[in-house]
Amino acid sequence: MILLQGCRYLVTQDDKRTILEGVDVLIDGNRIAKIGKDLSNGLQKEATAIDCSDKIVLPGLINCHTHLDIQLFRGVSDDKELHDWLDGIVPRKNGLDGGQLAEAAALGCREALRSGTTALADMHYTVTGTAAMVEASGIRAWLFVSYNDRISKNDDVGASPIFSEYEGHPRITASVAPHSIYGCSGDLLKKVHAYAQEHKIIQTIHLAETRKEQYKCKQQHGLLPAQYLDGIGFLDDRTLLAHCVWLTKEELRTIAQRGCSVVHCPTSNMKLASGGVMPLKEMRAAGVNVALGTDSVVSNNSLDLFSEMKVCALLHKHHYWDPTMADAQSVLDMATRNGAKALGREKEIGSVEEGKLADVITVAISDHLTPIDAARVVSHLVYSANGNDVSDVIVDGKLLVTDGRLIEQDHLFRTARLKNGRVSPEEK
Ligand SMILES: [Zn+2]
Repeated sequence: MILLQGCRYLVTQDDKRTILEGVDVLIDGNRIAKIGKDLSNGLQKEATAIDCSDKIVLPGLINCHTHLDIQLFRGVSDDKELHDWLDGIVPRKNGLDGGQLAEAAALGCREALRSGTTALADMHYTVTGTAAMVEASGIRAWLFVSYNDRISKNDDVGASPIFSEYEGHPRITASVAPHSIYGCSGDLLKKVHAYAQEHKIIQTIHLAETRKEQYKCKQQHGLLPAQYLDGIGFLDDRTLLAHCVWLTKEELRTIAQRGCSVVHCPTSNMKLASGGVMPLKEMRAAGVNVALGTDSVVSNNSLDLFSEMKVCALLHKHHYWDPTMADAQSVLDMATRNGAKALGREKEIGSVEEGKLADVITVAISDHLTPIDAARVVSHLVYSANGNDVSDVIVDGKLLVTDGRLIEQDHLFRTARLKNGRVSPEEK
């Protein structure tokens, strides 16, 4: 049991966006058991108590687009055109062995957890070592195995052992991700979609990231990217579309009608100069669920979702010449509730409510988050906080970060060095 005691502010992110003051949050097992005043009185079992009298408590952030397999390449291919950027990364990535991939995953999970991310959606080609390391880190993750038959040929859909290894796992969900329209044939896209439908799992794909992709798609298929995917029956309510910078209003309507979610990666889009801005206002108007992602540390260069929230808010205000755009509350929604919905788990994560899974973080109220009152808490989280302000991180009821330090630190580094990157049962 964990008792978050006397929360200065509890930003619940429930349907009414309730903010509570001075309450306790009791976590029993992997669930939020109770929220209320003075819950320590009459506790039957012993609980780990965390003083939250100078902390903001909120749901863990959800990063809906990452690539942990290139975590080791932060800073090696900056300030380059997209194709030069890729040339700097792909050969390096292809040269990694299982142990290095595991190390990359460990570093990524550490960074994500330390900065308040409790769930992430990771897209990767190679899963050797990655899955075991992600599991060992304690984070909640969707491991999207990436397929393509035009870049490096990985088209054996569902062949990865992680699909059976993690079936029914409480935190790890194995899933599928055709890389992109330009990386996959129509047949492969259909095959992946059929697999996702059969297994009732979320599928994700890079879509309309650049103008070149839009142009090429129109040239090859006579259709715009979302029209093309819809034409082959790919789009449905278990589809998560990454980037979506270059889309027309008509495509947005299609995406909304099919119930797809979109993950917005503003920093990555700006760093790689995608040349456009994801049409957030128009997406909202069409009723599309929009989540938030950092993309990899090669194109960001950080997994800090607090920073990403601020970048997101600023980008859209600037772009639309409208300071009311991407307000703090709606951006916090993107990083919490909307992410949960995009991953099909909105009933379980994304808010701090009794009965939900205990994915909860605390943020220390330091100088740059003051003065503070209930009306300003959400603003501070989006515009003033950063990942270093995160004090405690709980995932699935387990305390993984306390006072800004990872509890599993040594364990993660130790397992990262294991041969082949596999975590032996006794190491778990
Ligand atoms: Zn990506």
